[in-house]
Amino acid sequence: MEDGTGLKIEEPLQLTERVNRISVSPTMAVLQEAEKYKAKGVDVVDFGPGEPDFPTPDHIKRAAIQALEENKTKYTPSAGIMPLRQAICDWHAANLGSSPAYQPAECIVTSGGKHAIFNAVCALVSSGDEVLIPAPYWVSYPDIVKYAGGTPVFAPTRADDDFRLRAAEVERAITPRTRMVIVNSPCNPTGAVIPPDEFAKIFEVCQRHGVWLLTDECYSHFTYGNAKPFTVASLPGSRERLIIAGSFSKTFAMTGWRMGYLLAPQPLIAAVTKLQSQSTSNATSIVQYAALEAARGPMDSVSAMLAEYARRRERILAGLRAIPGITCTAPEGAFYVFPNISAHFTAEMPGDTAAAKQLLEREYVAVVPGEAFGAPGYIRISYATSIERI
Ligand code: PLP
Repeated sequence: MEDGTGLKIEEPLQLTERVNRISVSPTMAVLQEAEKYKAKGVDVVDFGPGEPDFPTPDHIKRAAIQALEENKTKYTPSAGIMPLRQAICDWHAANLGSSPAYQPAECIVTSGGKHAIFNAVCALVSSGDEVLIPAPYWVSYPDIVKYAGGTPVFAPTRADDDFRLRAAEVERAITPRTRMVIVNSPCNPTGAVIPPDEFAKIFEVCQRHGVWLLTDECYSHFTYGNAKPFTVASLPGSRERLIIAGSFSKTFAMTGWRMGYLLAPQPLIAAVTKLQSQSTSNATSIVQYAALEAARGPMDSVSAMLAEYARRRERILAGLRAIPGITCTAPEGAFYVFPNISAHFTAEMPGDTAAAKQLLEREYVAVVPGEAFGAPGYIRISYATSIERI
């Protein structure tokens, strides 16, 4: 059996039911396929990766080097060094407007945003619980929920409504078994941004039903046009049953460093710290010092990246819309476009997975099929690549 990454899993291996519930991230599988072509020397135009093509800013790199030279290479507290927890709370208040500011006891440092979400879901979701996930969704949410024993339930969003999640849709999909709603704005893969007033209504629905709201703010600083960075934690009285999952990966071009965090009520942070203390312990010590510099230092690199993404977004939207039969909403955030290509399906190319395969094999262009995100008929194109490539 192939697991999609080229790894062979021997059939007689008796894996746990828990592990058999999940599959390899489909976006990772696409990256692996593109890598095979690159290894053969093929010049692949790679629109697959969900990561900035910019290097990590110098001042952040220097902080890591300094930490290394100062031998800050020992274990740290599981929840992270106190100055970093404080700096994340301060950064969140200053740059996203959480009010009142979170306190370090309400913050844990994790090994990336995905790890933060994984930990929160594992701490709160039990067997039989439902977790509401707007579709199209980021590939990892359903599998993380399944791993925890929960059942993902999908709330549809519509292309003709710019893929925005509506409070009415959340209200409709909530059942007595719903434990959590996971919201991602700006959204991977659609780029949709939920307007603040709608976000407030979604939170109100969650509060009324006693359901946790986990908001994934991974792309918080990449918004275009009228959309602005926003956090639910800026709404008055918004602390109960609210979980913020954050990441340094995209904001500071630090995907490989693995640095993320959770902001949540103190008892939940304590539970997640317990879980983390028995798994990964602390996020890498020198990365924590680099993150401290990122959170305390200047934000100019973030605005420079945003300006470049904005230019690429215009270019790619214009190009896509010039292709007959392709429809594409203008994404308000993140760095993806999510066109509907279904008008081009044929007997030889019956769906988006076949289209992605043919694009790679015939044109050496890598994209991710919409099926991976629960959206057949679409493909995801990342414009975190140079304008020349676009
Ligand atoms: N959330 C979303 C929506 C993402 O797209 C990603 C990465 O692609 C993450 C979270 C996780 O990022 P990381 O684990 O690198 O911090």
